[in-house]
Amino acid sequence: MTCPKCNKAAQAEWLFCPFCQNPLKEKCPECGEMEWIGRIVCKSLVDEARTKQVEYLKQGTPDLFEKTVLPMIVLSAAMILFGAYVSEYHKVAWITKTTAEIITVVGGLIGCASIPAGLLTEAKFGVRSEAKKRQKFLQKFPEYAEILEKAKSAEAESSDE
Ligand SMILES: [Zn+2]
Ligand SMILES: [Zn+2]
Repeated sequence: MTCPKCNKAAQAEWLFCPFCQNPLKEKCPECGEMEWIGRIVCKSLVDEARTKQVEYLKQGTPDLFEKTVLPMIVLSAAMILFGAYVSEYHKVAWITKTTAEIITVVGGLIGCASIPAGLLTEAKFGVRSEAKKRQKFLQKFPEYAEILEKAKSAEAESSDE
């Protein structure tokens, strides 16, 4: 931040510029806090909108990793147990020992593949589902959408300088 009058670097907590005595902050009509004069959007409102968005993105976010890995591990464990049981005791007449062993091996392979499969699913669809959710949040809370939009353009402006 720089003082708009003398263009010297100003610190965020200063109320007045110590070089030219120009007032830097005023009482924000929206939140009542002292805020930077010329701000595009109320800082407290931006913080609130950001917090709300983070909370919204967190709640109920489909955990794709768990959704992929858990069923695969359950299936894998079931196959290993079933295959091992059958090949050990030959109690299921319609399955040969070889078939039972194949079931055990395939079950083991599914178990081994579950972690990479979960990571791949997360990498492929995780970002997309978060973007979708962000869109939903902005549609559901247009008042926050407006604030966040303003904050974004304010940041783009200050980084241009
Ligand atoms: Zn100044
Ligand atoms: Zn404010």
